[in-house]
Amino acid sequence: MNDALTSLLEQAETALARGPWRHFEAVCHATTQRVVEAMTNHRLSEEHFYSVTGYGHNDLGRDALDAIFAHSLQAASALVRPQIVSGTHAISVGLRACLSPGQTMLVVTGPPYDTLEEVIGIRGDSTQSLMAKGIHYQVIDLIEPQGQGTVRLEWSSEETSKIDHADMLYIQRSKGYGLRPTLTEKGMRPLLAALRQANPQALIFVDNCYGEFVEPEEPTAYGADLMAGSLIKNPGGGLAPTGGYLAGRTDLIETCGEVLTCPGVGTHGGYTFNLTRTLLQGLYLAPNVVFNALKGMSLAAYLLEHSAGIRVSPRWDEARGDIIQLLHLGNAQALETVCGVIQAHSPVNSHLTPIASHAPGYDSALIMAGGTFMDGSSVELSADGPLREPYMLFLQGGLVYSHTRWVLQALIPALQGILHNGN
Ligand SMILES: *Cc1c(COP(=O)(O)O)cnc(C)c1O
Repeated sequence: MNDALTSLLEQAETALARGPWRHFEAVCHATTQRVVEAMTNHRLSEEHFYSVTGYGHNDLGRDALDAIFAHSLQAASALVRPQIVSGTHAISVGLRACLSPGQTMLVVTGPPYDTLEEVIGIRGDSTQSLMAKGIHYQVIDLIEPQGQGTVRLEWSSEETSKIDHADMLYIQRSKGYGLRPTLTEKGMRPLLAALRQANPQALIFVDNCYGEFVEPEEPTAYGADLMAGSLIKNPGGGLAPTGGYLAGRTDLIETCGEVLTCPGVGTHGGYTFNLTRTLLQGLYLAPNVVFNALKGMSLAAYLLEHSAGIRVSPRWDEARGDIIQLLHLGNAQALETVCGVIQAHSPVNSHLTPIASHAPGYDSALIMAGGTFMDGSSVELSADGPLREPYMLFLQGGLVYSHTRWVLQALIPALQGILHNGN
């Protein structure tokens, strides 16, 4: 490592330790305490770690898993299952459970995450999409594009009318593959309160992917009726090999159970594949993993901006609502270089070279670096971006800060080599 990079790294860590990292650590203290309290309150014990085969009736561990997740995520109930394939599947279950033909889903945070387009029916020709089933879809965008995760609470008459007539108000907390800022608690709280006041009948659903344990409180603590997420992101703590969750009102969780399994079985059946111990240990680690990821992403923001002039979002000292770091790289070569360096410094598959290709559910070609223990896990250090203008890379996760720090030390010289003019 050259002297300039060494001193920049020192400068970065000093500045971060005085500011954002203190906040992240305080959040980690509070959320860890909540998770462990959930376990002590439910008297988690060895007997919960053994799965019941077959129908999975009377699986004490599955019930404990649901209850402990519910408490940890500040919800009345939760449904946590290895049979939930992904975050998209969890969200899809929630949407199906809450919407009937003729009803309207209104997304208030701009176009939703790519994979939801097919679920909703905006893209593709599935006979099973919400729109194919007669559910109406509308979208407005209340996010302040230049804010730090804040929203507009003054609405046009057209927006107000859409909000008034919606049956479900849908909020996507994280930017996903969007260029807009991620919502922070500072934006979410007043948004949820204003939506509730404007339309008390509508159900408020939050796509909570990447948001868990980033801030002191979860959306279900301040007004969301239901939320959903993936276990190969934050709440799996890097240990969950698969799975997803829904958390929220008890009546809605029961209905979600019936959609995931079938009426009559609901939340009360289903084999847990001897995963209960692992999923709970992952939850136990999750706040600390998120803390490590936040430290790593904020270091990335500082170093890439200061050393290579890359525009980053959020900036190192800005509020964070998720564990994603958006990098405005500007060209395909930079995207490939960054992914290549991350891959080469990954614990798994470090000898592979990332090549852009199409993935199911996504519209354009993607390039991904993911030398992860769990395939596709993005709570582990990973990066991906659609190979299209304006060539953004979404860097995320990082179970271990020291690993991310080491990757960044290799990344900066590689990037400086190809970005002559900055951007
Ligand atoms: C990751 C993500 C999802 C779900 O993605 P999966 O890959 O299906 O787990 C949904 N919404 C957002 C905002 C996400 O970041």
